Amino acid sequence: MDISNYKISIWRRIVQIIAFIVINYVIIEAIFSINLKSFEVFLKALPFLNSPRNPLSKGAGFVEYLFYSMAKGEFPFFIIALFLLFILFTNRFFCGWICPIGTIQDGLSTLGAKNKTVKKETHENLLKFKYFLIVLLLIIIVPLGITKTTDIAFHNDYKENLGSWAEQPVGFFSLSEYIFVFFPNLMTEIFENWEQTALEPLFSDFWVFFFFLFYLIVIMLAIFYPRVYCKYMCPFGAIAARLSRYSFLKLTRSPVRCVGRADCGICERVCPKQVRILDEPYEFFTGNGECNLCLRCKEKCPHNAIDIRFG
Ligand code: SF4
Ligand code: SF4
Repeated sequence: MDISNYKISIWRRIVQIIAFIVINYVIIEAIFSINLKSFEVFLKALPFLNSPRNPLSKGAGFVEYLFYSMAKGEFPFFIIALFLLFILFTNRFFCGWICPIGTIQDGLSTLGAKNKTVKKETHENLLKFKYFLIVLLLIIIVPLGITKTTDIAFHNDYKENLGSWAEQPVGFFSLSEYIFVFFPNLMTEIFENWEQTALEPLFSDFWVFFFFLFYLIVIMLAIFYPRVYCKYMCPFGAIAARLSRYSFLKLTRSPVRCVGRADCGICERVCPKQVRILDEPYEFFTGNGECNLCLRCKEKCPHNAIDIRFG
């Protein structure tokens, strides 16, 4: 595929900014003092396109919506089919070019601080953390969803014991939930009720406050460690990474053009996901599902050895 390499970063930034604004269209409302409430009709059809405005879902994103539905005892076939098709045809293009959380992290990593990498062994262990979170989520959510329709007495007991985890089981695991739902709502509360108890939602529950601080630290870390949340914590990233190898869209490396790690290795040094590109097969690489198709490696390769393959 012939893409003028030097233009990739510029195009990616443009797409990221447009996607950020479209997904969070409340920004347009704030800037131009207009009301786009009629957009909610699209949100009803595509509830994963969330913003604080979504009337259907608390969850800010694909996977958040999926888990919220499961917690309510629903199985959203439409969203799952859409998700699978998306990965099949575009792999993790969404992560590299569209996801607003990815855009925020990319912006932070350009703040001037020198980007760092995590030691290989530590990095590989940390990558597993997001799968642990998915398992934990399922342990909380599946019984919630099943018992809602089969054993309401158990459901109520279980919910009571879970406390705030039952109210927002996905929210605690999702940075996007905090940035695009919790935080704007908190700000609105503060502006509207400053003299009363504006900060109450923040201190109302230990876990809400704990995760607020936790995600604040994660965001700060993204200044030094690019895409730190995507790599180690994102629930979308965890599921997408497992499906990535089945996608039609992948990257290849030419065995003829590539001169190898000893003589070059630039691709690996610029990769924000720490993919060991040169340890991967030439035919295609996904970095065990971690590659988000940002195409930085392709852009920076001095020998034009990396290309996109479809099929
Ligand atoms: S930057 Fe290109 S030539 Fe250099 S190691 Fe990577 S793929 Fe090979
Ligand atoms: S392997 Fe290349 S395209 Fe994939 S995340 Fe790393 S730099 Fe981006």
